[in-house]
Amino acid sequence: MQTNLRIPGPTTLPDSVRKVMSRQMINHRGAEFSEIFKDTTARLQRLHKTKNDVLIFPGSGTGAMEATIQNLFSPGDKVLAVTIGSFGDIFANCAKAFGLDVDVLSFPPGQAAKAEVIGERLRANPDIKAVLVTHNETSTGVTNHLEKIAWVVKGAGKLLLVDAVSAIGGIDLRTDEWGCDIVLSGAQKAWMAPPGLAIIAVSEAAWEAHKTSTLPRYYWNFDPAKAWAESGQTPYTPAIANIFAIQEALKMIEEEGLENVFLRHAMVAQKTRDAVRKAGFELFADPAHASNTVTAVKMPQGINPADVLGLLNDDYNIILAGGIGAQKSEIVRIGHLGWFTEDEVLESVHALDAVVKRLRKG
Ligand SMILES: *Cc1c(COP(=O)(O)O)cnc(C)c1O
Repeated sequence: MQTNLRIPGPTTLPDSVRKVMSRQMINHRGAEFSEIFKDTTARLQRLHKTKNDVLIFPGSGTGAMEATIQNLFSPGDKVLAVTIGSFGDIFANCAKAFGLDVDVLSFPPGQAAKAEVIGERLRANPDIKAVLVTHNETSTGVTNHLEKIAWVVKGAGKLLLVDAVSAIGGIDLRTDEWGCDIVLSGAQKAWMAPPGLAIIAVSEAAWEAHKTSTLPRYYWNFDPAKAWAESGQTPYTPAIANIFAIQEALKMIEEEGLENVFLRHAMVAQKTRDAVRKAGFELFADPAHASNTVTAVKMPQGINPADVLGLLNDDYNIILAGGIGAQKSEIVRIGHLGWFTEDEVLESVHALDAVVKRLRKG
């Protein structure tokens, strides 16, 4: 039986993506790689809805966060880190690790960030240079209203740095229209590619900040990455197999049509939430901000999420995710992002229901 991987990343790979990864290596300084890299970059720009530079590094989403901090700031720079969960906390901690003066604005787990509160904090602290925000908080299944947040942040003249790891490719994100200065992601979520690539869209204003930033950087330096990308190359050896894979996955997304991909995510997410509630479970997320890429389901009193995940794995070959941090003993998360069908996702909700019923009977 095939394992049904329904976690919010890494996501299941389409067969054609797996196939291109088994190709023989090619010269990363040759014409063929150059053409593939340029095509991949152009596809990423279209899918980010941006004319900005899109840089691709070997790494993961957290690497993209670290690169962002190193390339835009100097020690002591003040930033506002808006967090609604574990991944927001990670972005804040990353900025702290590099000596930034981080003002953390937290909202309760399960809730979205309130744009007006961000606006107040910015007005009270005019020395803040940038706002760090998570588009979709994977740990709680909540999507922030990024357009509204962007309106407030750009209205205040600040840089807007977006962790879009579990959003982009599955939830609409209009980089240029909304004025996102950094949009960072990893290949292994809605992009339907294997883990191993960090993707960063960099605006003009972000490049301006880069010019005066003094934090040390070498491998993650944006300058050589941009300069080499012009000839379809990278300064250091690229993750060639991962580039083959993401190019193929992006072709599939463009063939389906980005807006159709968003609709598929929205429809299946709605059906997932309906099925979850119909089975008698509660959603962890505020329903007004429930995510289209991941659904967090509260486990009933007395049910240990670890037991649920174990039985789903052993008896159904279905892999769901547990909670992170404080939610570890509270929730189970269903990933519905990237390459999936409605049936596969709904099957995991039915199995979840069956397993919890069994555990309740003892
Ligand atoms: C998965 C995820 C990350 C972390 O990415 P890694 O690729 O594991 O480093 C960051 N932010 C969000 C919102 C995520 O979902």
